[in-house]
Amino acid sequence: MPDQPADESVERMEFMLTLRRRGISDQAVLRAMDEVPREHFVGPADTESAYTDHALPIACGQTISQPYVVAYMSEQLAVRPDHRVLEIGTGSGYQAAVLSRLAREVISIERYRTLADTARSRLKTLGYDNVEIVLGDGLVGMPERAPFDRIIVTAAAETIPEALVEQLGVDGVMILPLGPHSGPQELVKLTMTKQGPVRTNLIPVRFVPLLPGRAREL
Ligand code: SAH
Repeated sequence: MPDQPADESVERMEFMLTLRRRGISDQAVLRAMDEVPREHFVGPADTESAYTDHALPIACGQTISQPYVVAYMSEQLAVRPDHRVLEIGTGSGYQAAVLSRLAREVISIERYRTLADTARSRLKTLGYDNVEIVLGDGLVGMPERAPFDRIIVTAAAETIPEALVEQLGVDGVMILPLGPHSGPQELVKLTMTKQGPVRTNLIPVRFVPLLPGRAREL
């Protein structure tokens, strides 16, 4: 990247180093994190902080997740190039962009029209053309397009959404933050076997709540 100012490329190097230090080792995930320009997904006031390892505020009172958590969830999801992935909670579209580098197709559902529209045009401008953003209720999922190889939920559910479990194919993996809306949450991995879903608890996390229905405001 010869025409990037020096301090910007140092920032990007530190960003990648932090992910590696914290244990992200999947090369495809690291490459995707390196490729997707996070500064395009944060608000104008936050571009300077885009490569720090923090969650940042976006419109509609929501947040773009911390880079480490995006990388960790992407790694745990074990996405292959032939996979179809369903994301619940588009937000800025950043996690969807990272997944689009790993999967064949990403469908992402968002309950706020403003966020869905912004993410859709942002992803189009950046050329991520294997991502589809849908305005709707992620708790319902997208039964008409199921089964999915992978499902990722990026807002915290108090209980495992059964409709989503039903949309997971055999050998499918779903990652979701589980726990009370303003209390301790845990990242959970569900692997779908012929006998049903098998649960593994991963790491403690903090996500905005998964709320039912489409948002009433824009
Ligand atoms: N993945 C996002 C982070 C999203 S924050 C990113 O990379 O930026 C969680 C998002 O989930 C918020 O935008 C919130 O509006 C959305 N959300 C919460 N409940 C939802 C539901 N039932 N259906 C769809 N989206 C939902």
